Amino acid sequence: MTSLVGYTLTRFGSMHLIGPLDLAYNHVPHSATTIENSFVTQAERSAPTSSNLDRLWRDVLARVLVQSTEHASREILRRLRLRAVTPAQVVIEAPNRLVLVCVNDYYFTKLQEAVATVMGPRQVVLEVATREQGELFPGMVPKRAERRSVAVGTPLSPRYTFDTFVVGASNQFAQAAARAVATQPGDHYNPLFIYGGVGLGKTHLVTAIAHAILDQDPTQRIANLSADAFMNDLISSLRRDRMEAFKHRFRQVDVLVLDDVQLLAGRERTQEEFFHTFNALYELRKQIILTSDQVPKDIPELEERLRNRFEWGLIADIQAPDVETRVAILERKAELESIPLPSGVALFLAQHVVSNVRELEGVLTRLGAHASLSGNPITVEYAREVIRTSVRSLRPHASFDAIVAAICERFGLRPADLRSRRRSKHVAQPRQVAMYLCRRLMNASLPHIGELFDRDHTTVLHAVTTTERRLKDDVALQAIVASIEQDLREPANS
Ligand code: ADP
Ligand code: MG
Repeated sequence: MTSLVGYTLTRFGSMHLIGPLDLAYNHVPHSATTIENSFVTQAERSAPTSSNLDRLWRDVLARVLVQSTEHASREILRRLRLRAVTPAQVVIEAPNRLVLVCVNDYYFTKLQEAVATVMGPRQVVLEVATREQGELFPGMVPKRAERRSVAVGTPLSPRYTFDTFVVGASNQFAQAAARAVATQPGDHYNPLFIYGGVGLGKTHLVTAIAHAILDQDPTQRIANLSADAFMNDLISSLRRDRMEAFKHRFRQVDVLVLDDVQLLAGRERTQEEFFHTFNALYELRKQIILTSDQVPKDIPELEERLRNRFEWGLIADIQAPDVETRVAILERKAELESIPLPSGVALFLAQHVVSNVRELEGVLTRLGAHASLSGNPITVEYAREVIRTSVRSLRPHASFDAIVAAICERFGLRPADLRSRRRSKHVAQPRQVAMYLCRRLMNASLPHIGELFDRDHTTVLHAVTTTERRLKDDVALQAIVASIEQDLREPANS
């Protein structure tokens, strides 16, 4: 599943993120439903069986539709499917990210209320279909290919290829190095070390290398994972006494892509194991590709011998793109997603969203979704409005208390939970999001945020990076974070 994000349903219908869920689902076969009202007994509410789920779902949809009569609403809501129901949750599937954004922005509260009325209080979980399909309106979004699996680690995102990577002065050198490595892995630059700020295309570029290598030779065994995932794999292998298998898994690959190596900071055991993996692969002339937010010498708490090895090959940086490159990226992305973006609007967006490419893409997706829902063309005024409500004018120094309060409200937690040692997902993930927001909105240092949460700075770093990664794919989480940021914004006109 692409992204599983849950919202806890409360009596008052407020929205609480609980993050990826790993409960066992009661999967419901998809079926087309016509809308009609139906009477539901109390017994059905508390224990829906598969025979009446269809009827319950139709009832939920009918209740939402009664309040939204426009044709567009019908079109959007019709495309939702009931995927699973458990005593605690209702999982609703949207066919693609645009539909999810629309439902999240316009219908979520109504949907929650209808579910509560029809099925009793349950978490409502919105999810994008495993394989994104269809379009918001016919002809709008091209079908997406499936993710390409690799020998070890995460499948390659089909969107991250050289073909979709726009080259400009800011990333030209890194792109050329990546191309060279993709042509002759192991021969040129080993390791290839790409560094740059958040959302500037590092993951995109290294994924593109992996794609290109597999295009040339599908038998190549590729490990593609973040330093974080490497650590988790190591920990679970240690715990289950499976170290031999772990070593074998990583040492038999032809190409190792390790994303965000700064996450190795302070993890001594992981660094040690990675050191041996590195050496083994290097000696066999297997290609190693690393990314980081900093150059090796600036990564804190990194062992000298690793730092040293990271500098053996080629180090290439990615800088923030200039305005021309930002326009080109927007136009390419609009073309790929079939979003009708006038060039004047592309320029306007590029001039106003400067921080990173991910943010730029986020605004474009939102703009495309809102425009197609309303049926309005995308204009500069419209873009200004979307930017106003999603990116700009964040209060530069939001307070820690305000961030904690906003998180607690949305996620249904108490401030003490955030400082507690509790590790269950529904506490740990909001805590990570809170740390991420402190970094973004307070501009506080990692150690300072660590003190506020009673954690060390590497935990904060991990939280920030993990949240950034989740934000990339998880449209619903993007919506939550955007709405918190909006709450912490200066009042209009100031
Ligand atoms: P990083 O790993 O550096 O944080 P990502 O690789 O995840 O950044 O990039 C963030 C988003 O921006 C991705 O969706 C990516 O496709 C897009 N992006 C970044 N740079 C470019 C570029 N030069 N051309 C096209 N898309 C880009
Ligand atoms: Mg990345």
